[in-house]
Amino acid sequence: MMTQSFVPKVRPDHLDRLAHIYVRQSTMIQVRENTASTARQYDLVGRARDLGWLPERIQVIDQDQGHSGASAVGRDGFQHLVAQVGLGRSGAVLSLEASRLARSCSDWYRLIEICALTDTLVIDEDGVYDPTQYSDRLLLGFLGTMSEAELHLLRSRLLGGKLKKASSGQLRFRPPTGLVYDPERRIVFDPDEQVQQAIRLVLDLFDQSPSALAVVQHFADHHLQFPTRLWGGSRHGQVIWRPLSHSRVLAILHNPQYAGAYVYGRTKTRLLCLPGEEPRVKGRTRQVRPEDWPFLIPGHHPGYITWDQFQQNQRRLDDNRTLPDEDRRGALREGVALLQGIVRCGRCGRRMSVRYLKNGSVPSYECNSVHTHYAGKTCQSMRGDEIDAAVAQALLEALRPAQLEVSMAAIDQVAAHARQLDHQWQLTLERARYEAELARRRFMGVEPENRLVGRTLEREWNERLAEIERIERDVTLRPTLTSRLVHPEERRRVLALAQDLSKVWHAPATPQTARKQLLGYLIKDVTLCRGDTTIQLAIRWQTEACTVLEVPRPKRSYEARRTNPAVVARVKLLAQDHTDHQIATLLDQEGYRSGTGSRFTQNIVTQLRYSYSIMSYCPEAPAACAGGYRADGRCSAKTAAEMLNVNVSTIADWCQSGSLDGIQSAPYAPWWIKLTPEIIVGLRKPTRRTWSRQSVSSEK
Ligand SMILES: [Zn+2]
Repeated sequence: MMTQSFVPKVRPDHLDRLAHIYVRQSTMIQVRENTASTARQYDLVGRARDLGWLPERIQVIDQDQGHSGASAVGRDGFQHLVAQVGLGRSGAVLSLEASRLARSCSDWYRLIEICALTDTLVIDEDGVYDPTQYSDRLLLGFLGTMSEAELHLLRSRLLGGKLKKASSGQLRFRPPTGLVYDPERRIVFDPDEQVQQAIRLVLDLFDQSPSALAVVQHFADHHLQFPTRLWGGSRHGQVIWRPLSHSRVLAILHNPQYAGAYVYGRTKTRLLCLPGEEPRVKGRTRQVRPEDWPFLIPGHHPGYITWDQFQQNQRRLDDNRTLPDEDRRGALREGVALLQGIVRCGRCGRRMSVRYLKNGSVPSYECNSVHTHYAGKTCQSMRGDEIDAAVAQALLEALRPAQLEVSMAAIDQVAAHARQLDHQWQLTLERARYEAELARRRFMGVEPENRLVGRTLEREWNERLAEIERIERDVTLRPTLTSRLVHPEERRRVLALAQDLSKVWHAPATPQTARKQLLGYLIKDVTLCRGDTTIQLAIRWQTEACTVLEVPRPKRSYEARRTNPAVVARVKLLAQDHTDHQIATLLDQEGYRSGTGSRFTQNIVTQLRYSYSIMSYCPEAPAACAGGYRADGRCSAKTAAEMLNVNVSTIADWCQSGSLDGIQSAPYAPWWIKLTPEIIVGLRKPTRRTWSRQSVSSEK
């Protein structure tokens, strides 16, 4: 490094401002292990003091420990530093190597430019740079470029070394639970017998059972837990036990390391943003197909299963898949379920899935993720046709022209309010700018010798500038209004469209996917909660407004076929003095229908009487039927069965075959039996049931 005479560069006006010391280590491992570098970075405090800064004017910025310098995103400390420099509060920025301030060139140049504007020095171990001077700026720019190039070379050299190591199976990475590195850096079985057993159990169970879910089921049924060996951090090497999940089983079955193979490159990550850009997604990691794995070394270490078994497992898992590759969840599909993909469970908040009943004509919404992943119970499920209808109704309601008219009037009002507010903000901003201008003039007007006054006025000016910045930031943070619907021409078109919407929605030619698409534009999600008699629906619109509806819970199939209670009451009344045949005729005349909707017949009435335990009418002596005996001395089948110690069905058989003297008022009506002492003695069976059955069959 070239030597520089830095004393004249540090001037009193630099010393009046703060000295910012920027400390950073790229990764947490460096923070933990590379303490020497950190100590050197903190040593810059001494350097600042030597250069003449008072201890209270030295600030250390070390929020960025453990963040990479490749981009400013996520490094709050660096952003803070830039803000401080930009506001002119900083007299100098100190860093171990100036170029380490920011690795990416765009961040670096921005910082130098701001330093030049606010007359801030950049200081490292080698020298003091004044960005307002051309030669220093050139040097700083060069250092930044070098630093970025260095990073690039470093990265490619590291990657090259990494790939070379991977090709010979020497690159180490976290082994899956059940395998560990021994002191000679070879992969061996986990010394913990219990951990080994758990892995073996999963692999054995999959061998015997049809699916990965069956393995989860087995673990859940027997309340077994599954180990995870922690890697890195303060709890490195510890084993924690948790319930086994479906995804974990799949991860084990898909992991070739359990078959003793060394594989590098099973996944590929692609960055989704430019360096320095705010990343919306972290990067997309995709599975690489086994035939495309760049490095595969079978027989690299001891395995829980053989390579053949592993490949066989892959084939079985592939066969078990129900969704073809292109059919991803979340895509709009042809099925009738209107809420597919946007329905949530009101009990646990999970996404609900769709199943189709009755050949796909009726959707059913089910919350079964606990069942799928942990072999637990299905949380709730419900028929979807009425829910869909209610949501569609709410949607069309919201789009009704009158409704739209009101909404648009409201938007007009809100827009007017917003314009008023805008004006208000504009005035505030203008006033702040005016005051800053005043402060600037006051500061400029002061004599250079009068430093103390000048400093106070300068601070005041700075505060005014900060105030402007604050107001401007607040203005940008205010929610902006979409004023697209305000234009009269636009409004007329929307209203005309809304007139026809209901017709278009219900037209048979409209594809279901189009309806779902429209629904998705307006509705974010629908939460369902099944109650005893109703289902509660909460529709969350894209505007975050919420509509709560209730639909009656659909009847279960047996409930749907249940006889009307009024009919049962009527039968009870009629049975006192009518035969079943007469009752059926009467009910038919009165317009009643059975549970399945058919006309009443004598058979149906008889069945109904049996189901609801309604006594039949005896034409001979209705009043004397109590106690199992009629006025003529005949007893009921039940009484006879008790006396003869046999089943009622046996009595019916004997009456039919003539062994007993039984009469019936009509077919299927109860039997009335004449019992004599001789018959009782002749037919009565001893108390042992098994024997009596044998004897009955032998008599036949
Ligand atoms: Zn649920």
